[in-house]
Amino acid sequence: MQAVLPPDALPGEEMRRQLLRRLEDEVRACQRCPLATTRTCAVPGEGNLNAVVMFVGEGPGFDEDRLGRPFVGRSGQFLTNTLAQLGIARSEVYITNVVKCRPPQNRDPLPAELDACSDYLTRQVALINPRIIVTLGRFSMRRWFPTGAITQIHGHVRNIGRGRIALAMFHPAAALRNPTWQAAFIQDMAKLPALIERAQRANAAAARGEALPAGAPHPGDEDYVA
Ligand code: SF4
Repeated sequence: MQAVLPPDALPGEEMRRQLLRRLEDEVRACQRCPLATTRTCAVPGEGNLNAVVMFVGEGPGFDEDRLGRPFVGRSGQFLTNTLAQLGIARSEVYITNVVKCRPPQNRDPLPAELDACSDYLTRQVALINPRIIVTLGRFSMRRWFPTGAITQIHGHVRNIGRGRIALAMFHPAAALRNPTWQAAFIQDMAKLPALIERAQRANAAAARGEALPAGAPHPGDEDYVA
């Protein structure tokens, strides 16, 4: 089969690595919103540059703010363990948040803070180029699931364009507070291995030039050109 996209249409690995490092440095120095004045460390995100799956939570908590790393407290441990039980190592995925600095007393991020920080996540998605985005909690869910309450749409998978899907899940901290949500969290996460397998098949087909890579416009996308 003929190649469907020129191989140089998306940035190469070394360029993506450099751009991601630059973005992380920008986040660490960012003063775009008032959370810069109350944070200890900004938390850009961490993980595999070539991850098929990107997890997007809400914002750093106490431990994350102290260490500058995402999901390192109790809820992060729960997330990591749930992944491990499915045979998925944390080092395989990329993890970040919709706001990169801790809101004081772990309050909800404000609309202006979400807006100010939004561009970093847009650029991270473009650079990591995942096939699957797992939203953890209401705030990241709203970015890719415009309507619906999390109690109704957790576990749902949605096509979000450019060869990507989003899976809505409870935030692990919320799951730890509520046994029903904890069971739902584990059940929803169990969908991931099959989705990853499908995504890896799509990436392999794209590498052979037989399908479109993630990040390129796909049929049905607004900017798709046949
Ligand atoms: S939350 Fe985002 S926009 Fe606000 S200071 Fe931190 S990195 Fe900058």
